[in-house]
Amino acid sequence: MSSIPLDKMSWPDTLGHEPRLEEDFQDFKAGLNEIEAETEANRCIHCYEAPCIQACPTAINIPQFIGRIGSGNTLGAAKTILESNILGHSCALSCPTEVLCEGACVYHHLNHKPIMIGRLQRFAVEHAYKTGAKFFVPGEPTGKRVALIGAGPASLACAHELRRLGHEATVYEKSALPGGLNSYGIAPYKMKTGVSLVEIEQIATLGVQFKFGEELGRTFQLSELVDSYNAVFLGLGLGPDSHPPIPGDDHPRVRGAVEFISQLKTLPSASLNWVRELRSALVVGGGNTALDACRELKGLGIPSVRVSYRRGQAEMSGYLHEFKSALQEGVEFHFNTVPVSFTSRTENSIQVEFSQTRITHDGSITVVPTGSFVEVELVLFATGQSNFSKSKNLFAEIPGLEFDRGKLKIDPNTGQTGNPKIFSGGDLTNGGKEVVNAVSDGKRAAHGIHEVLIHG
Ligand SMILES: Cc1cc2nc3c(=O)[nH]c(=O)nc-3n(C[C@H](O)[C@H](O)[C@H](O)COP(=O)(O)OP(=O)(O)OC[C@H]3O[C@@H](n4cnc5c(N)ncnc54)[C@H](O)[C@@H]3O)c2cc1C
Ligand code: SF4
Repeated sequence: MSSIPLDKMSWPDTLGHEPRLEEDFQDFKAGLNEIEAETEANRCIHCYEAPCIQACPTAINIPQFIGRIGSGNTLGAAKTILESNILGHSCALSCPTEVLCEGACVYHHLNHKPIMIGRLQRFAVEHAYKTGAKFFVPGEPTGKRVALIGAGPASLACAHELRRLGHEATVYEKSALPGGLNSYGIAPYKMKTGVSLVEIEQIATLGVQFKFGEELGRTFQLSELVDSYNAVFLGLGLGPDSHPPIPGDDHPRVRGAVEFISQLKTLPSASLNWVRELRSALVVGGGNTALDACRELKGLGIPSVRVSYRRGQAEMSGYLHEFKSALQEGVEFHFNTVPVSFTSRTENSIQVEFSQTRITHDGSITVVPTGSFVEVELVLFATGQSNFSKSKNLFAEIPGLEFDRGKLKIDPNTGQTGNPKIFSGGDLTNGGKEVVNAVSDGKRAAHGIHEVLIHG
């Protein structure tokens, strides 16, 4: 789809040429061809104060880009999209459009199908990438230098905007590849890692510098960057998978869902042959990561995939449309249940003991033993990621950084933390939302930084 082949990119460890398991997945929303795109675009009635724009965290001028597709100006459409959201390709593929732009489309009130905004956005941006179109140039150099920590969507959007404003931007990333969860976490039936990397290459060409294998708190300290740069952006996202301790959870087949998904996406499939041989798996949790994980396991052909969630279906934080798709694909859901112990049967199989849960009048959960057991070959915990609020060593000796219920506190208008030189955004500050929120936060912080560096 892109004019840039993966092996021509600037990333040091660009996925290699070996097959990866994520390549087994087909896109669950197919792309549109030119006729389909123009026909769909011409259904849009270009609403005044369009609700779809208001529902988009990056406020893309949706009726404008749709109008441009309708009139055959596809490059112009892509420009409209990327002006507001430089990760417009990822967002077209991975945004929950059902609850954002498309969820707000007026056609719902007219009892018609909403406009396929996500698929039109994909059509426009893919066309632009195929033609090799470039829409952005770096701004007039200001001589100011900004360091960004973490190469996820928040930092990438911030770095891109900083370059357009003429500031130098250097990204410090602990992993070998850029993109954060956009490269390592998005379900492969929505977007593949290579697509994320190609998109980031467009950002790199604006002169953003990347330093890989650089981990805050291990290979460098925050104070060093605060001293040597004019401003610092923290885009660390969230930490590793976390789950309550359960007896037997040290079994090698009991794992974190985010870690498992990242392996599925980026490791050669030859190192994951055991995954193809699985016959049964259990996913614990009721959020979007649980729904992604169970659908991915089913997509790999595992016959029995169960989800155990400690509350009822109505309380699941995962999207209803994803839940319905998982049901259709044959995932079994067990509500008001929790695993309470894991007993190793063999190296490859685990007996899981479940209890029933009851929600008390104050909303807390009590556990009622039922003595029910199930044997599975893989358990994935999708019960949340840890946050950095307790990682005191990361922010040692830096005044002004405060957390509120696990989220780093920032000024909501500028992204500035309590330390005037440090800005932030994305999952680190919102506790874990979507790619599009991280992009919006990163862009906002770039303008906050610009204001301080130029006028402050
Ligand atoms: C399994 C999963 C599936 C998801 N699916 C979707 C989806 O379909 N659609 C959607 O819109 N959103 C999805 N999300 C959410 C989305 O991926 C995140 O909201 C988004 O990536 C947050 O961006 P970020 O830049 O804040 O953080 P991240 O993407 O987490 O990036 C943070 C970066 O910081 C780096 N880092 C961390 N610590 C350090 C350190 N000490 N030193 C240096 N670097 C460090 C990390 O390696 C990473 O590259 C999903 C999330 C998960 C977990
Ligand atoms: S709400 Fe729907 S019909 Fe109205 S401008 Fe947006 S996409 Fe077009």
